[in-house]
Amino acid sequence: MTGTEWLKTYPEGSVVRRAYDLATLAHEGAKRENGEPYIIHPLAVAETVRGWGLDEASVAAALLHDVAEDTAVTLADIRKDFGQEIAFLVDGLTKLKNLKYQKERDAENMRRFILAFSEDLRVLIIKLADRLHNMRTLHFLPKERQAPFAMETADIYAPLAYRLGMQKLSGELEDMAFPYIYPEEYKWLMKEVKETYEDRQEYMNRVLPVVKRALEDHGISPFAVDARAKRYYSLYKKLLRHNMNLNEIYDLVALRIIVGTVEECYAALGVIHSLWQPMPGRFKDYIARPKANGYRSLHTTVFCLEGKILEIQIKTQEMHEENELGIAAHWAYEQVKKSSKKLAGWSGVKDKKELVWVQQLQNWQKAFATQKEFLEAVKVDFFKDRIFVFTPGNDVMDLPSGATPVDFAYQVHSQIGDTCVGAKVNGKIVPITTELHSGDIVEIVTQKGKKPSEDWLQFAKTEMAKKHIRNALKESVGTLRKRAGPVGAEFKIVNADRPGYLKEVTAIFARNKVNITFLNSQTDPRQAFSTVTLRTSPVLPGKAEKLVVSLKKIPSTKEVNFRILF
Ligand code: MN
Repeated sequence: MTGTEWLKTYPEGSVVRRAYDLATLAHEGAKRENGEPYIIHPLAVAETVRGWGLDEASVAAALLHDVAEDTAVTLADIRKDFGQEIAFLVDGLTKLKNLKYQKERDAENMRRFILAFSEDLRVLIIKLADRLHNMRTLHFLPKERQAPFAMETADIYAPLAYRLGMQKLSGELEDMAFPYIYPEEYKWLMKEVKETYEDRQEYMNRVLPVVKRALEDHGISPFAVDARAKRYYSLYKKLLRHNMNLNEIYDLVALRIIVGTVEECYAALGVIHSLWQPMPGRFKDYIARPKANGYRSLHTTVFCLEGKILEIQIKTQEMHEENELGIAAHWAYEQVKKSSKKLAGWSGVKDKKELVWVQQLQNWQKAFATQKEFLEAVKVDFFKDRIFVFTPGNDVMDLPSGATPVDFAYQVHSQIGDTCVGAKVNGKIVPITTELHSGDIVEIVTQKGKKPSEDWLQFAKTEMAKKHIRNALKESVGTLRKRAGPVGAEFKIVNADRPGYLKEVTAIFARNKVNITFLNSQTDPRQAFSTVTLRTSPVLPGKAEKLVVSLKKIPSTKEVNFRILF
């Protein structure tokens, strides 16, 4: 399906053309699983990336994305020949490739990690193009690798695409993964849906002209009025929530109206509602309140021809493109606007529109937060304050920046934290005070019976680590004191406050040769009573009893309490 014609739109000697030449050379002789020359793959990825409107650097990086990992060409070579920007993108893609995804439990963590780790969103978008081509050719892979790969696509990459607003891609990835993950359910759904779809299609053929005519009668000439069938995997997920009852799914086939302006969207809605009765509680204004991923549209459900329930979506052309392409659509617009000017990625906020997108990204980041802890961390600029490091088994750990191996150890398990004596970062032994960086592989060296020391509190960054250190310290101090016996005694003396009272109290301790280490007197303003708290060096029980009796004898003493301090 991929030719090289499109390459010719880039001039001879451009980074794209040179990247193609290098990739061809590097992958020379290598074959894909289906026997095709390997270069077909990077070429397809690059063409997709180009189709999404990304810049030259991205297209070149897409061509080179498997080179650093699979061939003799190194990242240093790429940096030398193509510059820092392209090398940076290729490096990001190489690192993402080495990520291992195992358990569903880690999916959210993994998605957050990938987003943060991509740093430049272009890395993530190229990665999605890579995934798209791999999914399209998944049937060539050995059987046992198909399902896990499809699962990773559905759990990690399709949701990421969705969060970037790339709805079309997200749906495509899910639909391609579906038959590999749930083959039986897929077969069942295809059979069930086929007839319903055919009925619906026939019904829509009668609805469409009615809608078009009504709109035109009101002076609205839509760009398009068409029927949109719900995607299979998303239908399957919805059916799970509706007892697998297809009759409860109103948007199985939805009517889509695309008009010129926002005003026309609302006008068209008025026309629809005057034509057919809206179903109460089903109108959603995603134009006034876009979804977290930037999706904009008006949704309404009406009792249509023959009283059948039908969902209708109304949006502008621009919204439609953005809904389908997400952030990539934004790139495409910017490309056209700035033409030759190079894009710096999302970090360089220039004009207002870009700012809106950055804000949206921040909203997505919030959508990523499933844990309370993470919500607290998102106050700050993007993932700047977070780092993501690996266990030797390639599990991802999410830590605040400046975190040390001690924080990491406690994140893994409190036991590991407590007994931590040293750490290896990327295979090298380092002090446990070392600051960790994203991408580090951290291994903790432990020793049985080891206890945390107080100075760890000076460099530990996470609250979790600090809490455990304090607890462990308290315990060890407790053991120490138990061994050493009582450290003192405490007397609480309630009295009717009068001048000279305290002096009589302290005199009793002096006579008994007991050292006072702490003295405090508090008066309760409502009652005329005052409480004297007095701590001393340890006293033997017999002597304490004697002291209590003497204190009680002082005029104005109401009550005396005594306890031994350990
Ligand atoms: Mn690839």
